Amino acid sequence: MAVNTGQRIAQVLQQGQVGATVQLSGWVRSKREGKTHAFLDLNDGSSLTGIQTVLARPEFDAQLPQLTVGTAVAIAGVLVASQGQEQTVEVQAQSVTVVGPAPAETYPLQKKRHSFEFLRTIAHLRARTNTFGAVLRVRNACAQAIHQFFQERGFLWVHTPIISTSDCEGAGEMFAVTTLDLGKTPDYTQDFFGKPAFLTVSGQLEAEALALALSNVYTFGPTFRAENSNTARHLAEFWMVEPEMAFCDLGGDADLAEAFLKHVFAQVLQTCPEDMAFFQNRIDPNVLRNAEQIIQEPFARITYTEAIELLTQSGRSFQYPVAWGLDLQSEHERFLAEEHFGRPVIVMDYPAQIKAFYMRLNDGCPPEQQTVRAMDVLAPGIGEIIGGSQREERLEVLTARMQACGLDPEVYWWYLDLRRFGSVPHAGFGLGFDRLVQFMTGMNNIRDVIPFPRTPLNAEF
Ligand code: ATP
Ligand code: MN
Repeated sequence: MAVNTGQRIAQVLQQGQVGATVQLSGWVRSKREGKTHAFLDLNDGSSLTGIQTVLARPEFDAQLPQLTVGTAVAIAGVLVASQGQEQTVEVQAQSVTVVGPAPAETYPLQKKRHSFEFLRTIAHLRARTNTFGAVLRVRNACAQAIHQFFQERGFLWVHTPIISTSDCEGAGEMFAVTTLDLGKTPDYTQDFFGKPAFLTVSGQLEAEALALALSNVYTFGPTFRAENSNTARHLAEFWMVEPEMAFCDLGGDADLAEAFLKHVFAQVLQTCPEDMAFFQNRIDPNVLRNAEQIIQEPFARITYTEAIELLTQSGRSFQYPVAWGLDLQSEHERFLAEEHFGRPVIVMDYPAQIKAFYMRLNDGCPPEQQTVRAMDVLAPGIGEIIGGSQREERLEVLTARMQACGLDPEVYWWYLDLRRFGSVPHAGFGLGFDRLVQFMTGMNNIRDVIPFPRTPLNAEF
């Protein structure tokens, strides 16, 4: 059997001519037996809609019992005009070969509605459902659009390490990588790398080194966080996109983030209209409106200080307190994006005390009101979708900030070298890829937009 790069169902549904012979392979989604004909809905993952395959009776009667839901089949036949309104063509089968049976008594995915919770327990099979097929096609289109956006602008895709010895966020939510005997008190000098090592929480620090040579770069790869938060927005293993630009300030960073989101949404709507319509109709009736808002409306831009004023003056009672110096919570972010502005909003210049050490200090702030050049992009429906900043490019200021944050400048010697030699203003952001797909599809739980999610106590498959 050669690789099936030939006829796929999506292509046949779009371009197939009545009278053409076709050979299609896929899985039976449903079977209906009528008096003179039986009907199979055949799906090969190329589109949400499968192709209707008509089997004449009694010619195919002997085979019908085997053609149960989930069975893999190869079909040869002729395209005929479809009686139904949904499709223009269907296949009049000439031969049907069972490639792999799926016994009805044991196949877990019978044709009925299953809850997303149940489908997570059969993640190896759930890609055969409408929803997960659509999610995975949109995810693919999203990844493609991201690469296209950066490649068209001359950014290099760089590959930063997955095993890291620095904690970028300083949050300490890291998975250890070790070959030591876990029963003993660790002597890291004897460990594989001679010091503690972890799965990376971000490729940013290394991406900065590369941007300060190649000007514009981006990472797109797996990221790990051992956060024990069982939320619908956190995974222990997720994918992150991190552009980094030399000779760029926070304004340029915000411009890029806005252009980036607009491009990706427009591209996905264009490549996956059927899947996006499915999400709109079956998952979340705001999906298309949210996407159109991102594409068409200019993002609002405010400072953190203005955001605090808006929240205080809103007359709302929030669950979490609102005060200058406190981080914005999800409910605050959603108020701003959904209710106050009704469109995406970029919040800039956060208090230094709630942000990471590498963010550039704003000049001329009173000490208690010191802010950094950070930005978050907040979108209706999901809250924070992008977090970014201009980086501190001044050696003395960065060293002092590290010390104030309790970090050892010795450990970050190479990061500080970037400020010793040819330092320039530079900026970048991080986008959680799975959060983007979640937002785009309206899926409630982030576990349902990645094929095999990793969360606390869950790494099956
Ligand atoms: P949050 O407050 O939601 O935990 P964060 O402030 O920890 O996010 P960053 O450190 O700024 O997030 O990471 C950059 C982006 O990565 C976030 O904007 C988000 O989209 C995504 N992200 C962060 N943590 C996770 C996670 N555990 N699972 C999936 N995506 C994540
Ligand atoms: Mn977090």
